[in-house]
Amino acid sequence: MTVQATARILEGAPIAEEILARVRADVADFTQSQGHPPGLTVVVCGSSAPSMVYLDRILKACATVGIDGRMVHVTGDDPDTQSRELAAALRALSADDEVSGIIVQMPLPAGIGIKVVIDAIDPAKDIDGIHPLNAGRLRLGFEGFVPATAHATLEMLERSGVQIAGAEAVVVGRSPVVGMPVAFMLAKTGATVTVCHSRTRDIGAHTRQADIVVVAAGHPGLVTGAMLKPGAVVIDVGINVVDGHLVGDVDMASAREVAGAIAPVPGGVGPLTNALLLAHLARAAQRQAAERSAVTARGTE
Ligand code: NAD
Repeated sequence: MTVQATARILEGAPIAEEILARVRADVADFTQSQGHPPGLTVVVCGSSAPSMVYLDRILKACATVGIDGRMVHVTGDDPDTQSRELAAALRALSADDEVSGIIVQMPLPAGIGIKVVIDAIDPAKDIDGIHPLNAGRLRLGFEGFVPATAHATLEMLERSGVQIAGAEAVVVGRSPVVGMPVAFMLAKTGATVTVCHSRTRDIGAHTRQADIVVVAAGHPGLVTGAMLKPGAVVIDVGINVVDGHLVGDVDMASAREVAGAIAPVPGGVGPLTNALLLAHLARAAQRQAAERSAVTARGTE
């Protein structure tokens, strides 16, 4: 009789619940001390159905922890008008003390550059870490806001007891929102990191050496069991819809026979990402309130 090994499934929901319990308590403290709840505004330019579902989910999660979640729609007829309206909305939200965090729906519609967002959003309210100041802080090892998905990947590894320091890690994907921040965070935590991408000649040659494999490419079935080292920990970040079903970038059927643990799609880093976004919001709210009272105290000296 042969007994096939199957990977431990790393579930995001229980970790997300722990994080949300803490956020709920922090939000209650903030609301009591400030007289209003912390506010999160999601800015939407145009409409794309999949991301609307995602944004709606974030707003519902806000309501469950006491955050005042709102959505602002930018509705110009052409890219120039939309860019102007987007910049004006972001400036107004950045200046509003009752808004602690801002998320902008990505990708932006064609013809609107990311620079419009970067020039208008207050980095202190950039809770998903898209501003170069936050990206630079991560790169140089200072505290700032990191993209929630990258944070979720590291949190999943750490809370699942995975040894990162000294591990060989491969990240598939080099985008500024997922792949590169994950790579920087893994390196900072002590892993030896290889970044693979669309121009990598033989991804399997790298992943087969890895203790930790993070896949964030947006390409279903990209990493299979034959590309893994037995016992490896795999974090699937990809989100794809195949035949109406949500799947990741990892071929689960073959990977789970080889890996030691897998964070699957759906159910892995996804729920954790949303919870961490709200944790970032609570942190942003506390910091802004502390800064406002420091300014008031200086003013009365
Ligand atoms: P992106 O398109 O900006 O970047 C994809 C990266 O993958 C690029 O660096 C590219 O070089 C690499 N890549 C693409 N095809 C490849 C291939 N065949 N072989 C090797 N590398 C390849 O995407 P992104 O924003 O980084 O997102 C990546 C995936 O993660 C997407 O599926 C996205 O939907 C998902 N995502 C998930 C969450 C979450 O919360 N779980 C959040 C953001 C993004």
